[in-house]
Amino acid sequence: MKAKSPDALKQFLINQVLLDPNRLENERLEKELSYISRERVNNPIIYVGMGTCGLIAGAGKTFKAIQEYIDDHGIDIELIKGGCIGLCSAEPIVDIQLPGKSRISFGNVKQDKVQYLLDEILNHNIPDLQTIGQYKNDISQPWEGINPIFDHSFFSGQQRVLLDNCGLIDPVSVEQYIARGGYWAFADTISSLTPKGVCQLIEESELSGRGGGGYSTGKKWANTLKTFSDQKFLVCNAVESDPGSYMNRVIIESNPHRLIEAVIIAAYAIGATKSFIFIRQEFKLAIERLEKAIENARGYGLLGHHIFDSGVNIDIIVKRGARAFVCGEETALNNSIEGKRAMPESKPPYPSEKGLWNKPTIVNNVETLFNIPLILKNGPDWFKKTGTDNSKGTKLFTLSGKVKNYGTIEVPMGTTFRDIVWKIGGGTSGKQKFKAVILGINSGNYITKKNLDNRIDYEELKSIGTSLGSGGFVVIDESTCMVDLAKYFTNFFKNESCGKCIPCREGTARLLEIMEVVTQRPGKNNHFQSLERFKGVMQLRSLANVMRDTSLCALGKSAPNAILNTLNNFKEEFDAHIFERKCPANVCRDLRVFSIDVDLCTGCTACYKKCPVDAIIGSARHPHFIVEEKCIGCGLCYDACKFNAVLIQ
Ligand code: SF4
Ligand code: SF4
Ligand code: SF4
Repeated sequence: MKAKSPDALKQFLINQVLLDPNRLENERLEKELSYISRERVNNPIIYVGMGTCGLIAGAGKTFKAIQEYIDDHGIDIELIKGGCIGLCSAEPIVDIQLPGKSRISFGNVKQDKVQYLLDEILNHNIPDLQTIGQYKNDISQPWEGINPIFDHSFFSGQQRVLLDNCGLIDPVSVEQYIARGGYWAFADTISSLTPKGVCQLIEESELSGRGGGGYSTGKKWANTLKTFSDQKFLVCNAVESDPGSYMNRVIIESNPHRLIEAVIIAAYAIGATKSFIFIRQEFKLAIERLEKAIENARGYGLLGHHIFDSGVNIDIIVKRGARAFVCGEETALNNSIEGKRAMPESKPPYPSEKGLWNKPTIVNNVETLFNIPLILKNGPDWFKKTGTDNSKGTKLFTLSGKVKNYGTIEVPMGTTFRDIVWKIGGGTSGKQKFKAVILGINSGNYITKKNLDNRIDYEELKSIGTSLGSGGFVVIDESTCMVDLAKYFTNFFKNESCGKCIPCREGTARLLEIMEVVTQRPGKNNHFQSLERFKGVMQLRSLANVMRDTSLCALGKSAPNAILNTLNNFKEEFDAHIFERKCPANVCRDLRVFSIDVDLCTGCTACYKKCPVDAIIGSARHPHFIVEEKCIGCGLCYDACKFNAVLIQ
């Protein structure tokens, strides 16, 4: 296909794609779009996965090495900074598409492998590197002996509709997004649907808010649409500060135009002309790509005044938020947008009645919004086909922790925990056995072996005392001490409490004090400390109840969850810490007692040299000893000994 000038391409995409109601029946157009979307190429094209995960794994150096190879060889290759396909454990990922051939994906491509990879593949040979798979389709010749990428165990249990473009397109290119069907739903919506009609379709789809509450998105919108006001606002909550969850960041980095399209449709549906995307300041790459994508969309007339001569006015402002967990709470978030300190307010009134500057404001999270263009394009029945009776559609998770395959995943509602851990995650990564899944730190409960066959569904999760949480899906194995983990989460909440209300501010501090005493070695003859420890443990449940009942926002209400979950599911570990002063997983540093097996000790002195407090005595070629009173439990001797002579009790 002959390349069009940027202006001609823009006019073509607007007039013959976005504004043409007959575009679906046009085969010639379909072929032309496949070139713009890069499903067909005239010259080789290389995508490097350059999401934050890829960059951390070294994708920046890989990209530079590819650029140097192209420059040195003077080859006409298009090199693109892509997003993340989800399989973070295989980063850096490089995809190559040669004219007429299927796109093929390689994993773990560090800079030193670039020359070999390109020497081979540009000569149509498959290099001896990790191939993730190829993208088979009807328009290109497949590579022999290479499996389709979606047969890979990480992908085969997934259903990728929200992640469909992630890693496949140039994230900021409005042309590639439109060529793959993007902004079609928006163009159709403003030309053929009333705001009320949009709210009805979304309500019919049974889409529930993915931010945790699970309330009907369509109903929420419809109520705000009905409210009379001279000004309404649409806010996208892109804060995401729960440890272990980053899928919203990934989808913004990889497909920012989908979020822009969703925000403008949602704004239209509730009658808002102004919208905000509130995003954490540290998500630098996501912000950079989002702002670039907004600029590109604006250039196409998709934002601003009188969009496509329809009389519709919608704009988006990207607002950077502070690094604070509480900013994710909708009233705190609105305060922050208004320039005030991000502190939650008591509800009612809800933001949908009195939000930003006391005007009706809808706050939706990123994942909820990502569904919107798809529902409008494919219809509510299409959306309802996936999922269970109570929970429709798919759900994104950040799969991490002790699993072989980790990254961002999308599964149909109703998938079991077992399938995610073993089929998608490939099971535990080390030698230790599975222990639990943490479904976001505020979800309410751990998923243990007994709940592995439970399905991910709003009702079923409620029946086992938990919720979808924020999308973190952290797998832990038996090397993890649950008491230490509970202490970590308690410390997190204590640091993140905004301090507005006493139960949370003082309660989180008291919870942490109790956990610190529980995980410390008792001082000699310190009966007072022992008494305090027991007293604290006895008070845990009533303290948790007070915090849940009286804290103003979800942070204070969920702060005791980790401790209560540990008491409920791993009581024997708590008891070992409290009564035996032992950490069964040998993690709590202050409770570890080190000794040396004199029969195994060769007197090599390695431990003696490492001990920071001179707690080891002995001479060369003779057994060594540890003076327990001096030992601070750092474990350096254990790591240093090559003869397994250092023991932990
Ligand atoms: S519960 Fe905690 S975070 Fe929420 S308002 Fe009260 S002090 Fe602030
Ligand atoms: S655990 Fe640390 S402090 Fe204790 S004996 Fe070993 S090296 Fe010394
Ligand atoms: S490192 Fe091991 S073998 Fe060497 S002196 Fe210490 S305990 Fe003995």
